[in-house]
Amino acid sequence: MTINHHPSDETLLRLATGALGAGPALVIRVHLEGCSVCRERLTRFEAVGGTIIDEMRLAPLAADLFGRTMERLESMPSTLVTEPGPRKQPDLGIELPHAMRHCEIGPWRWLGPGFKWSKVKIAGSPHAKVMMLKGKAGLYLPAHGHTGMEFMQILSGSLSDERSQYFPGDLDEADDEVNHRPVVGEKSDCVCLAALEGDTRLHGFLGRLLRPIVGF
Ligand SMILES: [Zn+2]
Repeated sequence: MTINHHPSDETLLRLATGALGAGPALVIRVHLEGCSVCRERLTRFEAVGGTIIDEMRLAPLAADLFGRTMERLESMPSTLVTEPGPRKQPDLGIELPHAMRHCEIGPWRWLGPGFKWSKVKIAGSPHAKVMMLKGKAGLYLPAHGHTGMEFMQILSGSLSDERSQYFPGDLDEADDEVNHRPVVGEKSDCVCLAALEGDTRLHGFLGRLLRPIVGF
C-alpha cells in the first residue's frame, strides 16, 4: 500500500502533547496503524512531548515553539514502534482498524441516495464528532466548507476532490480554506472515517438533509 497523504507535523505534535481532540486523534491513530513513516514521526514528537508540555505550562504558547520543536526532532535518532494489527468486525461487512476496537460503532444508516453513515462513539468522549461514511462508486458527496479542521482517513475504495486523489491508508486534513466536493472513485464503494473540529457548513439539498441527522 502506497500512502501519499499524511497528517501534518502540527497535527502529530498536537497528538503527542494530548492537544488533539478525541475524534481527530482516533482518525490519526487509524492512519498510524497503516503508516510506518508517521509512527516514526510520532515517536519522535512524543520523545520531546514532555519538554513541550513543560514549556506550555510556564508560558503561553511561544510563537517559535513549533519551529524549535522541529529543530529538536531533526537532531534526534529515529525509532519505530510496532502497532497491533486490525480486528475483524463482521457486522459492518468491513475490516475495522485495531485503533477502533474500543469504539461503539453504529449500524449503517441511510443518509442520501447511495450514501450511508455510521456513528462512531469513543469511550469517555461522547461529544466527539466522528463517523464512518460509505459512498457508492461514482457518487458526489455533498459540497461543504469548514469552520474547523476535517480529518478523513480512507478505509476502502477511493475519493478525489479538487485538490487530489485519496486511496486506502491516505489521511486528508481539510482546513477552513478548503471548500470541497469529494467524489467517490468509479471502481468501488468508498468507506472512510471522518472527524471534525469546529463546525462544518454543509451546502445544498443533501447538506440540509445531513445536518439534522448527523447533528452538525
Ligand atoms: Zn502517514
